Amino acid sequence: MILPSSTIGIIGGGQLGRMTAIAAAQMGYRVHTFTPKTPGEYTPAKQVSNKTFFAEYTDKAALEKFARSVDVVTFEFENIPAESIEFLENITLVRPNSQALHITQHRLREKNFLKNAGFPTPKFYHIKSALELIRALKEIPDGVGILKSAEFGYDGKGQIKVSYHGQDLEKIWNESGFKEAVLEEFVKFSKEISVVLSRGTNGDVSIFPIGENQHVNGILDNSTVPANISSEVLRYAEEVAAAIAYELKYIGTMAVEFFVTQDNKLLVNEIAPRPHNSGHWTIDGCTTSQFEQHIRAICGLPFGETKLTAPKIKMQNLIGNDVAKIQDILESPNAKLHLYGKKHAKPGRKMGHVNFLIG
Ligand code: AMP
Repeated sequence: MILPSSTIGIIGGGQLGRMTAIAAAQMGYRVHTFTPKTPGEYTPAKQVSNKTFFAEYTDKAALEKFARSVDVVTFEFENIPAESIEFLENITLVRPNSQALHITQHRLREKNFLKNAGFPTPKFYHIKSALELIRALKEIPDGVGILKSAEFGYDGKGQIKVSYHGQDLEKIWNESGFKEAVLEEFVKFSKEISVVLSRGTNGDVSIFPIGENQHVNGILDNSTVPANISSEVLRYAEEVAAAIAYELKYIGTMAVEFFVTQDNKLLVNEIAPRPHNSGHWTIDGCTTSQFEQHIRAICGLPFGETKLTAPKIKMQNLIGNDVAKIQDILESPNAKLHLYGKKHAKPGRKMGHVNFLIG
């Protein structure tokens, strides 16, 4: 057990690191963060950390110094080289494990892992050329799919909607710049839901109430809890998500995003090996937040309760210039504002979120 007053190391300096650091500090831990930014640059996590290490994710000497300064290492986003996490595993405790990161940071590896373990996914194809793209699209019944870069994709980045009919697919492939990609059938879903859960060192799993998510331009716009789904769909989603965590030997908080199809089937869209945007409502809407549960999991502590604190909660992301609306938002006494301290609003940049406790 890693007890309060120990030091937690977080790789990555973004808002997820910031909210994890706040939860850790509240429980009496110290926090060191590691970011590839330069000391002069602002990072959301730096403002709330005891110490920040500035170096590239591949800088072994800096990684070692960081690892030796903490009692356990975790990471807040998936585009960190898995070899760096593996390197850290030889020095100190790292949770979640590097293999879980290696699988989930690469869309093709993730899809193959899901398929081989028998979890339901949209139909997908491995694409390395325009010809493969054309052939695969021809096999999809209505010829419509989403081409996703195998690496470095998040928030709808590295994704192109493609159709076999009426498009110059050779041009699309050549201009995409993708080295390797996954083509997925385009799913006409009725809903998107996500299961956020935490798994502990003893294999215990704590599942948060399931929310339904709305995306705009591939970026999460809002989540509402509880999701309006049948108890069968809810139970199955929980079972699949817990089984994925088990297969990955996962320790910490993670999320599994699902499509609910029009005939009420579930397909796994994506696994996030970290606390997730669709779980931000838990900070105010749940007796224990996803960030506190992550700290409890990686430190080997028992889990906290995950009951709703209001009948309904809506998390609204504040993206780009949405931050200009904060005065209006604060007029509502049920709105809990979370800003990430980012200096400049840019289109598509997540600046903060608001949790509305309803009813
Ligand atoms: P992703 O980054 O893969 O989670 O994709 C971002 C969003 O794009 C998803 O939450 C969906 O709204 C949409 N999307 C991704 N893949 C598909 C798909 N195969 N069919 C339909 N919509 C999708």
